[in-house]
Amino acid sequence: MKKLIGPFTQILPLTGLPLKGALKDEQLNIIDNGGALVEDGLILTVDDFEKLRKNYPSAQVEEITGDHVLLPGFVDCHTHICFAGSRAKDYAMRNAGKSYLEIAASGGGIWDSVAQTRAATETELSNLLTKRIARHLAEGVTTIEVKSGYGLSVTEELKQLKAIRQAADKTHAHIIPTCLAAHIKPKDFDGAESEYLKYLVNDLLPKIKQEGLASRVDIFIEQSAFNTSDALFYLSKARQMGFEATVHADQFTTGGTEVAVKARAASADHLEASGDYEIKLLANSDTVAVTLPGASLGLGMGYAPARKLLDAGACLAIASDWNPGSAPMGDLLMQASVMAASEKLSAAEVFAGLTFRASQALKLNDRGILIKGKLADMQAYPCNDYREILYQQGKLKPVRVWTSENND
Ligand SMILES: [Zn+2]
Repeated sequence: MKKLIGPFTQILPLTGLPLKGALKDEQLNIIDNGGALVEDGLILTVDDFEKLRKNYPSAQVEEITGDHVLLPGFVDCHTHICFAGSRAKDYAMRNAGKSYLEIAASGGGIWDSVAQTRAATETELSNLLTKRIARHLAEGVTTIEVKSGYGLSVTEELKQLKAIRQAADKTHAHIIPTCLAAHIKPKDFDGAESEYLKYLVNDLLPKIKQEGLASRVDIFIEQSAFNTSDALFYLSKARQMGFEATVHADQFTTGGTEVAVKARAASADHLEASGDYEIKLLANSDTVAVTLPGASLGLGMGYAPARKLLDAGACLAIASDWNPGSAPMGDLLMQASVMAASEKLSAAEVFAGLTFRASQALKLNDRGILIKGKLADMQAYPCNDYREILYQQGKLKPVRVWTSENND
């Protein structure tokens, strides 16, 4: 059954835009008084609403009244929202000037989330995750990547990935799981970082593969986590097993981007410390540069060089990094809007970074633009001009969100 949704004051289908490099708002191919024709969860076409109504008289009409702007659903390609507990104490200590080491010594940091997540059952974790997914979906995020990484043992990582699968079965949002067992070496592992990674390769990744729990792996490359040579070993083993790779790269020190590009990772995420060398590497590769403004806001640090990355010709995506430690806010649109003011990003660059460029970071080519054959993941904002959306810095929320799973 065909369904015609509209009329919308403006539709931004985000079609005809390049995957990489800078964008100007003049390149947006805006449809005024548009409609979206969908069938079986896929877009059939977007065009002038009255023209579609005339050409498809038998289509069921979902009438939209008042001014609205239609966008593709957002893709959040980097989150850590499968966790239990709160790290409000860490946040307060950091704002009071305590160092990373002082916070860790008082029982805070990633290890605290590991302890609280291990103490939760699979169902408890899945229920917490379900609530966070529902909030993200209501705010227009129709595809959500979710990492494990607070289990850090075979049993506990599998529990987290199963909790993610449970939550994925209960929502209309599309959930993309990623194994981040290589987040930090757990305190209770008897051996070096390199031995922990070998343990993951031998004992965890085959089980994940066998049970179909994730097809992507992530690793945190940093002085406090894993070094570049161990990471290259881990990613090449994972790639040989058929996993896609992504990397936490250059958050505080460089090195991660080089590994990501060498390992042909789908994305290199963070990049706050990236310099001209890393920017050039990313611009000349197929690895998507993912900026995480929520972590910069949470830590009170500078943003990744988004403007420079775009000007150099990189594919730039924007994700929330929603996590209990450094990025507790989880409001993707607000973070992207606020960063855009500092980094001087056009609306076209922001919307591209939240949609089809972000889906490239997940190697998904079936979403992120509104054109025939793509998923009917869409969101409508109550305004008459797309510029209102970033102007209101995230306070303007969509009033209607559709995903392919409930849009037919
Ligand atoms: Zn992260």
